[in-house]
Amino acid sequence: MRGGLVFFYLYYVMLKKLLSITLLLLSSLFSNAQSFPDNWTSDYTPFRIAGNLYYVGTYDLACYLITTPKGHILINTGAPGSVPMIRSHVETLGFKFADIKILLTTHAHIDHVGGMAEVKKLTGAKMMINEKDAEVLADGGKSDYVLGSAFQFEPVKADRLLFDGDTLALGGMHVIMLHHPGHTKGASSFLFTVDSYRVLIANMPSILDDTKLSGMPRYPEVGKDYAYTLDAMKNLKFDLWLSSHASQFKLQEKHKAGDGYSPEVFRDQKGYDAALNELQKAYDKKLGEK
Ligand SMILES: [Zn+2]
Repeated sequence: MRGGLVFFYLYYVMLKKLLSITLLLLSSLFSNAQSFPDNWTSDYTPFRIAGNLYYVGTYDLACYLITTPKGHILINTGAPGSVPMIRSHVETLGFKFADIKILLTTHAHIDHVGGMAEVKKLTGAKMMINEKDAEVLADGGKSDYVLGSAFQFEPVKADRLLFDGDTLALGGMHVIMLHHPGHTKGASSFLFTVDSYRVLIANMPSILDDTKLSGMPRYPEVGKDYAYTLDAMKNLKFDLWLSSHASQFKLQEKHKAGDGYSPEVFRDQKGYDAALNELQKAYDKKLGEK
């Protein structure tokens, strides 16, 4: 009887060990699937950029809130798991999360739309997206031409498809969507005016390592599209420049937590031109690769 108990105990210990190893393996698989550089998703104090435009994103994954008397517009959500942070940022600034009426994104990659489904469920807001990114948004990233199914997110079905130059309106705000394809088929920038500042939220045309500009099976015209976008972006007129990643427009150099209201720090045509110049060089270099 005693021997039986010892055997049972050892068996139990072994089973427990096996279970914990399995759980560990599973959790590491899960976190690998959605891991980003540490500071991408860490917290950043929300602040007023200019007029009724606010920064509500994480440290590097920029999210923007445009407030109006008829409800708000949210551009980008960051990665999956960032929604509670964004929500608390919106509330810290004195706004109601439930008043978000329109959802937009600069492009349908997991680090910008990873929380879109959750925000849509919480707010009932309407998702509007460039028609060329609607499919990849609806299948949670599966049909992405370069990432394939490696970075999947919770799918969202668009409520309205946007075409180049379309304007969406809410509570006196007019936001123009500019189609800047390449990084994704439907990558987009946004132009609008707040408090007399013409603001550009640019989707900078960076190129992923695995992209072949000679053409991808799911995106034969990718090289041509990047060339179009680089040209189109060089001719844009605006006062303040922001983009999908904080690092792209050097947010942390321009604004420190606790700084007062200072829209002018985002007036940076020189920085924008230099960033585009670098991207043009990267494009030209990649064009030579086979
Ligand atoms: Zn991306």
